[in-house]
Amino acid sequence: MKRKEEIVIIGSGIGGLVCGAILAREGYKITVLEKNKQIGGCLQIFVRNKHIFNSCVHYIGGISKGQNLYKIFKYLGITDDLELEKLDEFAVEKITFHGIEKEYNIAQGYPNFIKMLAADFPEEEKSIIEYADTIKTIGHKFSIFNMDENGFFEKAKYLEIDTKEYIASITKNEMLQKVLAGNNMLYAGISDKTPLFVHALVVNSYIESAFVFKKGSNQIAKLLSRVITSHGGTVKKNKTVTRLTEEDKLIKFAETENGEIYSADHFISNIHPVKTLEITDSNVFRSAYKNRITSLENSTSIFNLNIIFKAGTFKYINSNYYCFTGDKVWDCMFDKEEEWPTYYTVFFTRSQKNPQYAESATVMVYMKYDEVKKWEDTHNVVNSPEDRGEEYEVFKKNKAEVILDTIEVKFPGIRNTIHTYYTATPLTYRDYIGTDDGAIYGIVKDCKAPFQNMVSTRTKIKNLLLVGQNTTLHGVHGVVMSSVISCGTFVDLHSLLKKIEDAQD
Ligand SMILES: Cc1cc2nc3c(=O)[nH]c(=O)nc-3n(C[C@H](O)[C@H](O)[C@H](O)COP(=O)(O)OP(=O)(O)OC[C@H]3O[C@@H](n4cnc5c(N)ncnc54)[C@H](O)[C@@H]3O)c2cc1C
Repeated sequence: MKRKEEIVIIGSGIGGLVCGAILAREGYKITVLEKNKQIGGCLQIFVRNKHIFNSCVHYIGGISKGQNLYKIFKYLGITDDLELEKLDEFAVEKITFHGIEKEYNIAQGYPNFIKMLAADFPEEEKSIIEYADTIKTIGHKFSIFNMDENGFFEKAKYLEIDTKEYIASITKNEMLQKVLAGNNMLYAGISDKTPLFVHALVVNSYIESAFVFKKGSNQIAKLLSRVITSHGGTVKKNKTVTRLTEEDKLIKFAETENGEIYSADHFISNIHPVKTLEITDSNVFRSAYKNRITSLENSTSIFNLNIIFKAGTFKYINSNYYCFTGDKVWDCMFDKEEEWPTYYTVFFTRSQKNPQYAESATVMVYMKYDEVKKWEDTHNVVNSPEDRGEEYEVFKKNKAEVILDTIEVKFPGIRNTIHTYYTATPLTYRDYIGTDDGAIYGIVKDCKAPFQNMVSTRTKIKNLLLVGQNTTLHGVHGVVMSSVISCGTFVDLHSLLKKIEDAQD
């Protein structure tokens, strides 16, 4: 029998796991090496007081029958085991502004999306339809399933269009402009920077369909891991890769912190490209490449307030809130300390015992890494805990209290419904995801220099590939799509896409 070619994957984020699952099914012998006690990267969960919290991913899009994620997960055989709940058809997201009672609803399904916004902005119906058409068109053009019909130049133009400018070009109505950009925490939107393709691909996936997890986001990671192991692969936890050793322009082996050696024919790195360069022992990469990669700007980080409600006190809301305290909807990650936070999101989790009520909620607020820099020498993860000290605890408490005062404006009385809360800072994200600064969505895309900020999946080392949110696009949808494309390095992409299409019911 022909020897199976071996692939070692560094990191078990959604990118690594999807590549691993596809390539395991396609006949490769896969070994995934994950530094944490739990697999999944941003799909990890944590449990407090018997309540499950998603550490990052709260909802996913494009996963109804016939849509991209559905197709790929169906091919991988995991669709039917996912336990999801559809968010409100007419209000996946509620865009709100302190001081304005009205909530603007972003619906799922293009007809609903148009209908709901046109009800709020009747005189703007034409602009709303034009916007929806553009978003849908970009979603179609960039879909991996329509690659043959879309030329490079046709797509490239969307990399160079600034999102804020585009929105302003389709409507003069300032409130509608704000509402259309209102969920920009989904992509950490920066004015004069965020390319339209980023906005469109993220927004399109959620307009297509939007679901929350019934029992935590890590179910995706567990199911993908099962695909890998059921095809003869291995997923190893607590394995920090500290070195990739190159000889004759090929990576020969990965070495872990505890000195274990993993040889393979191919290596896929699912970690940040800068971290990949740091651990790669090779002169093959030119300094120009290294300089470019290391100088790329990372996205902002985040502070999370994870609330457990007193049982039966806070009615469940099947929508995600995107709330602004003032007038500004862009660039909220650059808030001055005294105005923080001007933007926050709230994700509720339905109580299993008493479904009318929420059992918990997560409030996410941008936070600069610099705010926690003074504790950066501490590293705290479950498999290697470290106390960051009393001052850090006070810092977190103070920030949590500011957030509680802020959300009380939108949800009066919420404080009284809180049983307890937990917080996570940029250091938590740094330590659990393995970046330098807790960046939430990897490298910032810039419409003014679209190709400079792109990191190719292929590298100068032929058997070393980069996958994950730093390559094409962040988000579960974005990373899964780019991971399928990356698998085209190993298998014929057209046949793979055909198999994926054929796997649908
Ligand atoms: C706060 C937050 C909220 C988000 N919300 C959503 C959402 O609601 N919906 C959505 O679709 N997307 C969301 N995203 C984005 C999405 O989660 C990410 O884009 C995506 O999951 C990133 O996947 P990845 O494949 O790049 O790997 P990552 O998730 O970055 O995982 C990388 C993995 O590599 C491991 N690793 C790092 N270094 C090493 C090493 N040396 N050796 C071994 N292993 C290593 C890490 O431990 C980690 O497991 C959110 C992200 C964040 C941070």
